[in-house]
Amino acid sequence: VAGPSQSRSVRGLLSEIKTAIHNEPFTDHYTVIPGRELGRGKFAVVRKCVEKCTGHEYAAKIMRKRRKGQDCRMEIIHEIAVLELASACPHVVNLHQVYEMASEMVLVLEFAAGGEIFNQCVSDREDEAFSEEDVKRLMRQILEGVAFLHQNNVVHLDLKPQNILLMSTSPLGDIKIVDFGLSRMVSSHQELREIMGTPEYVAPEILNYEPISTATDMWSVGVLAYVMLTGISPFLGEDKQETFLNISQLSVSYSDEELQQLDPAALSFIQMLLRKHPQERATAEHCLTHPWLQPTEPQDNQTVEEILSVKEDPSSTSSPEPPTSTSSA
Ligand code: ADP
Ligand code: MG
Repeated sequence: VAGPSQSRSVRGLLSEIKTAIHNEPFTDHYTVIPGRELGRGKFAVVRKCVEKCTGHEYAAKIMRKRRKGQDCRMEIIHEIAVLELASACPHVVNLHQVYEMASEMVLVLEFAAGGEIFNQCVSDREDEAFSEEDVKRLMRQILEGVAFLHQNNVVHLDLKPQNILLMSTSPLGDIKIVDFGLSRMVSSHQELREIMGTPEYVAPEILNYEPISTATDMWSVGVLAYVMLTGISPFLGEDKQETFLNISQLSVSYSDEELQQLDPAALSFIQMLLRKHPQERATAEHCLTHPWLQPTEPQDNQTVEEILSVKEDPSSTSSPEPPTSTSSA
């Protein structure tokens, strides 16, 4: 039996999966909800469906096996293998079943009802956009997911707001990382260079055709944090050319009005990720220890004794202030 290192191909793709591949038509077991598509990429359409025997909702990622005249079944098998590898991680979407038909494969995924975080990132409605507290909680989850992947030598290589989904929007639920179509295994003895993600989110080393590593994802996490906090895509130019130039010159403004209003700790967080040299960027684990992401104290200027005395002695509640409010407001 091939171990993990033997099943790893030269291009960083996994080739072995445990999930059974069903060959009967997918529609024998699922009802595809007509009309609305959940999403669409270059080679995949994602549709909401209902499993006939359970009534449970899922998202079916329907993928063409031939793309630009090339057989891409191997890439799809890799995507399945990575989802299996990450099945223990609560922040990566769960894979339920796989179907294979003549020209398509269907990945039946856990349904993330809240859709892409992209929608909240670009919303100019105050009630829809994320608060800084929301961003902190979601960013912690993204980092926990990314740390899990990196611990298992997986680089995602396409982290962006369209590939981070929400389980619900009101109330704002937990995140799920999706789309392992560009992901690769990284190993110490093989260099990876070729892959290209989405212009706005790719790291300088991808543009310069330099080796890819887990730090490549950390650049994208920095861009994600920037976008989630401000709604502004920091490197986006008028065209691809200009975007690439902005990235390779690290031409990003930290003096924008939107950024100046933020907690300085949020800025410092972004700055430890948007660094040209991959080895200087913080790791996912390091990011989780950054002051910006530490839970804030609900009471900032009450002493422990004061808090306890309010709780224990009913006579001390003569103050008109409820015990949870701070006096400095
Ligand atoms: P592609 O490789 O084509 O980008 P993705 O896996 O990113 O495919 O899926 C495309 C889009 O479909 C996502 O951006 C998202 O909007 C939607 N989608 C994907 N998976 C799910 C899911 N499990 N639940 C809900 N929507 C999903
Ligand atoms: Mg995608």
